[in-house]
Amino acid sequence: MADHFNRYALKHFAATVAECMELPLPEEYAPSVPWAVNILKQRLGGKADRVVAYHADAVGQYIWQKYTHLLAPVYANTTLALPFVSTVESVTPVAHASMYTGLDPEGHGIQTYVRPRLECSTLFDVLLAAGRRPVIIAQADSTFLHIFAGRSLPYFECANAMEVTEKAIEVIQSGEYDFLSIHTFDYDNAAHAYGPESKEGLNAVALEAENFARIADTVRSTWPDERVLLTYSPDHGQHLTAGGSGAHGSRMIEDMNILHFFGAAK
Ligand SMILES: [Zn+2]
Repeated sequence: MADHFNRYALKHFAATVAECMELPLPEEYAPSVPWAVNILKQRLGGKADRVVAYHADAVGQYIWQKYTHLLAPVYANTTLALPFVSTVESVTPVAHASMYTGLDPEGHGIQTYVRPRLECSTLFDVLLAAGRRPVIIAQADSTFLHIFAGRSLPYFECANAMEVTEKAIEVIQSGEYDFLSIHTFDYDNAAHAYGPESKEGLNAVALEAENFARIADTVRSTWPDERVLLTYSPDHGQHLTAGGSGAHGSRMIEDMNILHFFGAAK
C-alpha cells in the first residue's frame, strides 16, 4: 500500500492560530484551516486572548500511532488533533519557518538546514504590530533563536526541556506575555543518537508531554478567566537509519507526517 501523506501543509499553522486570536494577517500567508478555527473558538468561548504553543521537536505521527499512551498528558489538555504534513526538506528551520510565515519553503527562502534570520513577515512581527506581546523560550541554539532573531521580544535560552518548562512557568506567572512559543528538542536529540523508538527517545517524548501538561496547569491556575489556546505542535518526524540511529530531512512518511493537538485551557 502506498504511503498516505496528511492533507494540511504546515504553512496553514500561522493563520489557524492567528484567526483564533482574530489577528489580521498579510495576504501572502496561507489560509487557516477554517473548520478547526470554528471548533476552537467554540471551545474557547470566543477569540483566544492568549496562545501557548509548545513545539516538541521531531515527534512523528507514527510515534503517536505506536506509543499513543505517552501522549496522554497532551490529550488531557487538548481537544482537537490535526494532522499536518511537514516541509521539504523535513528539517527544523524549514518547517518552523513555514509554520510562522504561512509560506512554502520557496516563499520564505529556507529550503534546507540553514538558519538565516528571516526578513519576511513572521507571526511574531504580526503580533508585535498588533501591540501583542510574544516571547520565545527555547533550548540553547534552538532554530527559533536564529531564524526569528532580531525582533523586539524577549528570547529565553535554556539548557534542556525541563529548564524550558521552568522558564515557561515563570513567564506565564509574570502575566506579561500573551503569545508564548516554546521549543524543546530532548526527543530530537535522543532519537538522533539512539533511534526514534529507543528507550531514551520514548522517555523524552513522555517527558516533553508531561512538561506540556505542567505548562497547561500553570495557564489554568494563572489565567482562570481568560481564553487561552494551547497547542502541541511538532515540526517533522524521524526515521530509523540502517545504523540504528535516527535521521530526518527526507520525504519518508516517518519524517513527513506529524500530528498537532489544540485545546482551550479551561
Ligand atoms: Zn526539528
